[in-house]
Amino acid sequence: MQIKNNYFTDKQLIELLTTNDTSLLSKLHSHARFITKSIYSNDIYIRGLIEVSNYCKQGCYYCGINRSNNIKRYRLKKKDIVDTAKIGYNLGFRTFVLQGGEDPLLNDDFYIDIIKAIKNAYKDIRITLSIGLRDFKSYEQLKKAGADRFLLRHESANEFVFKKLHPKDQSLKTRIDALINLKKLGFAIGTGFMVEAPFSSINTHIEDIKLIRKLKPQMIGIGPFISHKDTIFKENKSGSSDLTTRLISILRIENPTALIPSTTALNSIDEYGRIKGILSGANVIMPNLSPKLAKNNYNLYDNKKNTGLEGAEDVLKLDKYLNRYGYKISISPGDNKGVRNGKIRR
Ligand code: SAM
Repeated sequence: MQIKNNYFTDKQLIELLTTNDTSLLSKLHSHARFITKSIYSNDIYIRGLIEVSNYCKQGCYYCGINRSNNIKRYRLKKKDIVDTAKIGYNLGFRTFVLQGGEDPLLNDDFYIDIIKAIKNAYKDIRITLSIGLRDFKSYEQLKKAGADRFLLRHESANEFVFKKLHPKDQSLKTRIDALINLKKLGFAIGTGFMVEAPFSSINTHIEDIKLIRKLKPQMIGIGPFISHKDTIFKENKSGSSDLTTRLISILRIENPTALIPSTTALNSIDEYGRIKGILSGANVIMPNLSPKLAKNNYNLYDNKKNTGLEGAEDVLKLDKYLNRYGYKISISPGDNKGVRNGKIRR
């Protein structure tokens, strides 16, 4: 098969996702790397992840912090979050990702105050929100306050799989509508899915790839599903780094300018996951900046890594590690190259 710069046919996707032909796979990964480098050079963008709360009103069956789980809950204070961003800025971070469960007490005013405080302190930064489903008005207020990007994975583009992963009070349509609204409001949007989540298959992942073609997100985040001991999927096998990296390369080739992280989940199931993701075409890393209380209790799945190269303590060490493979950390907001002056080119 010839690997070119365009959308793959279904037949090609099936071949790429199932083949044992190592020379085809190495062509896939090297072409994805080539595309990334032609647009982003050897820059790897870093995002400081701040896990704001593990309270959640949603019941996603796969997630360790879902509303039914009996876990120690925490909620960071505004000051803790703003101070954490300050620490991050001094370490070299220019994007902060506020992520959390859908905590009913964290209303718009809470986030607006934080966004404004961080944005007033620093001009050369971006704020990404990853705080789940909210209504249009709320997204509008958050955008107005200065938030730049929003991550909301669609989780599975297949209706049957989506329903198996979520209780009845959630729907795939609601998630897709939210992503469309966020884009309309001017957010750079990110979507994605869990690789080899329960009930998913090569065919449903092809549906994921096709939904991403339609949504044209500026960011695409995928990582292997990893089981959590207190969920109904505790016996399910986790996703593999092999399939995850194939999908990263496919998504890179189909979405050349997308910002694609090599995720913590990938690095949690494979000790070389971080670099494997980058060598498959990813160009973003999201080290964990969270204070200890959050790091210890934001357990979406078992054995989640949050220290070493997953922690944010040692950006220099991470840079040295990447240098060995011909990459370097870029101290910059790291916008999608399809975004100019904060405005999205369509
Ligand atoms: N509540 C927000 C939302 O739904 O977008 C953000 C937090 S949510 C915990 C962040 C992401 O974690 C989800 O989009 C999901 O893909 C991922 N996640 C949750 N449980 C997981 C698991 N068991 N394995 C891998 N990823 C998981």
